[in-house]
Amino acid sequence: MLLKITSPVLNQQSLSREHTAEHVLMGSLQRIKGSFKVRKVEVYDGFGKVFIEIDSLSFEDLAKAQVIANKVIFEGRVVKEHFFDSLEEAQKAFPSLRAHEERIQGRVRVVEVDGFDYSACTGKHVENTKDCGMILVTHVSKSGGEYQIDFEVGEKALETAVKLSTLCLSISSILGTPIKNLEKAVLNMRSENEDLKKRISVITEDSVKKTLSEESLGETKLYAAILKGVDTKAVMKTIGELIGKNNYIYVIGLEWYGVCNILIGSGDERINATHILKELCRVFNGKGGGDNKIAIGSFPCEKLHDVFEEAKKIVRDVLKVQ
Ligand SMILES: [Zn+2]
Repeated sequence: MLLKITSPVLNQQSLSREHTAEHVLMGSLQRIKGSFKVRKVEVYDGFGKVFIEIDSLSFEDLAKAQVIANKVIFEGRVVKEHFFDSLEEAQKAFPSLRAHEERIQGRVRVVEVDGFDYSACTGKHVENTKDCGMILVTHVSKSGGEYQIDFEVGEKALETAVKLSTLCLSISSILGTPIKNLEKAVLNMRSENEDLKKRISVITEDSVKKTLSEESLGETKLYAAILKGVDTKAVMKTIGELIGKNNYIYVIGLEWYGVCNILIGSGDERINATHILKELCRVFNGKGGGDNKIAIGSFPCEKLHDVFEEAKKIVRDVLKVQ
């Protein structure tokens, strides 16, 4: 059996241009990367997927392959077929032949894109590459040593090319960066963002430790504050570390433009953070959860101060401290 083309559409004839375009793209990639194995091809109306086993595949490789493939398509090369009694004979005649060797037994049909590409194949093809219109790679993904390349053909490819170009123009306008610098700009933004996250996290940790008010409740202590603009995850991490080291109780209000939270942390076995949070949610129409040591809930911002005061009151009541 030669390379098998799978398609959910019964009329494979109508998919011959998608299939031929795939031959041309694979032939182009072969020129750039040397030989590799095409494991599976799927073609649909206007698009397809090809699964290849290859060591590496960059966007640059694919860009080069697409330039070559579209040139071959525009040149209008004739698509021919040849028959051989064995794979060895076919390979002798066409040394660059792409074939699924383990699947081939006996008579071999070779499909030639005139002087450009040779592939052992049983599928249907157009007679001239011009009929493919154009080919565009629309997605690439990698799983193990196998790459999946999604492509579009003909009018669909043209429409997608225009959409992608428009998207680039729009992103370039939003960022105020020329298209040629987009990649660099996005990489810079990403590293700046990561750096800012780290800075906020450090500032948050510092502000939690420094701004909490302290109240003695018998043998334990209650630390509380409403903090604005700090990073919630960093607060949770800091409180988690603190309650791991001592038996104090923490009530932290977190305020940030329409998103308000109350966090309860407890290192004291008498205070169950989730129980307190549940009571607060019931009274103030909040939502949240956690465990007996740490719990967090969101509340309407206009009620944050009331929730904060009530949380402290519940802690005092449970510990029977006035
Ligand atoms: Zn074919």
